[in-house]
Amino acid sequence: MNIHEYQTKELLRGYGVAVPDGRVTHNVDNAVAIAEDLGGERGVVKAQIHAGGRGKGGGVKVAESLDEVRQFTDEMIGMQLVTPQTGEEGRLVQRVLVEQACDIKKEYYLGLVIDRATQRITVIASASGGMNIEEVAKTDPDRVIREAVDPAIGLAGFQCRKIAAKIGLRGQQISEAAKLMQALYKCFREKDALLAEINPLAELGDGKLMALDAKMSFDSNAMYRRPTITELRDFDEEDSKEVEATGHGLNYIALDGNVGCIVNGAGLAMATMDSISFHGGKPANFLDVGGGASPEKVGNAFRIVLQDPNVKIILVNIFAGINRCDWIAEGLVQAMRDQDISVPIVVRLAGTNVEKGAPILEASGFPFIMADNLDDASTKVMASLEASA
Ligand code: ADP
Ligand code: MG
Repeated sequence: MNIHEYQTKELLRGYGVAVPDGRVTHNVDNAVAIAEDLGGERGVVKAQIHAGGRGKGGGVKVAESLDEVRQFTDEMIGMQLVTPQTGEEGRLVQRVLVEQACDIKKEYYLGLVIDRATQRITVIASASGGMNIEEVAKTDPDRVIREAVDPAIGLAGFQCRKIAAKIGLRGQQISEAAKLMQALYKCFREKDALLAEINPLAELGDGKLMALDAKMSFDSNAMYRRPTITELRDFDEEDSKEVEATGHGLNYIALDGNVGCIVNGAGLAMATMDSISFHGGKPANFLDVGGGASPEKVGNAFRIVLQDPNVKIILVNIFAGINRCDWIAEGLVQAMRDQDISVPIVVRLAGTNVEKGAPILEASGFPFIMADNLDDASTKVMASLEASA
């Protein structure tokens, strides 16, 4: 789960991280009032979307006057902001953060990630921060410093000082950076984060360090115990199909292929996607209907998968343990009756009550394409796609 920059900054401020003064708004007059309130003529207007690279797409602008604050806010709110991370359709900007313009001497990068290889939270830092860190990581990986944290000890002071010195900080800045790293680590642990990124961590004209941009994402599976973070969720930034699926107890993730998948169990769903890819196809989604799927749940799964206009065929792959194939079959038939389904449906049923499920599909008169196993199902999906191409 992701949150906005202004929310991350607010959260980190509570942990003692230095961030610019600023406030969020969705209204032009308010933006000017905020800038006025912050004192000074200059201000930065920053589009709030769940994607980075905004600076490159025109989503971060330094205003030299209140008139410019008005102009930039007016331009940004309502625009489809395209950045290297949004895809070409961009994201609708509904809010901007208006904050103090800082006098930047140098931009550093500081991040915390969970390194799955070492299974440790790892600090990543670089003297080459700012908008081109992805480039630096590719072309000059030696400029990116990594330090793994021992979970039993936590992020130690000496590690922080070592990292700070390695990215070229000196004197007082080293202890300032160490404090900041520990605050970030504390927040990361206490809020079940998966990623925390300060880019840039700016060295200001007076030598002080400040987090000018901040991004955090959190482990959705832990959010049941983090109500203050859950509150920050912005449904407008999420795929509406995914939001609806969560409401129906379905695990759905939209992808960009054309084979819709309805599967029980996350492992089988992944195997199904692999099998489709292996046969040269591209899954349109990941969908796990879970155990004990009722006919209603199957119907909802169809409705959500079919909201994606790219879907040209649906593969239903059920290996019933807790599930019952006859319920799934009833759900399939019901969905065919209730919904206007024009794409072919390939069905593979196995496990509990399969001997009752298959006859229900046959008796329905709908043209389900039956498959014996997963490989057979993927083969039939590809054959059907080719035949209709
Ligand atoms: P993104 O990473 O999405 O491009 P950032 O918040 O990092 O957005 O902003 C891009 C650049 O804009 C920063 O690298 C920094 O140079 C500049 N910038 C951002 N916030 C401020 C600020 N408050 N004052 C001065 N410059 C800023
Ligand atoms: Mg940034």
